[in-house]
Amino acid sequence: MNGSNRRVFMLQVAAASGTALLATQAQAQAAMLNEKDAQAAALGYVADTTKVDAKKFPKHAATQMCSNCQVYAGKPADAAGPCAIFPGKAVAGKGWCSAYVKKAG
Ligand code: SF4
Repeated sequence: MNGSNRRVFMLQVAAASGTALLATQAQAQAAMLNEKDAQAAALGYVADTTKVDAKKFPKHAATQMCSNCQVYAGKPADAAGPCAIFPGKAVAGKGWCSAYVKKAG
């Protein structure tokens, strides 16, 4: 392989891996969970923890939210992230549902 061919080859490799990375990122962005989804509604999920129905969930506190829930798989500062209770969907970092468990530590 001469120098020019080698440069073209390297550019092709870079372009191919860039495309693969973009595809992976697209798959990682799950659709946001809709509050009206049957399972979400059953667990009282809301995208804003301040909107929780206090009569229905008297133990809820405004400090409880997905971003500090044990089940949340996103980073605490993320606006949204995966939750094992709702596979394939992203929940809002400021969201809440009745399956909330305070993150240890
Ligand atoms: S289980 Fe936790 S992270 Fe998942 S929706 Fe409920 S409060 Fe949010």
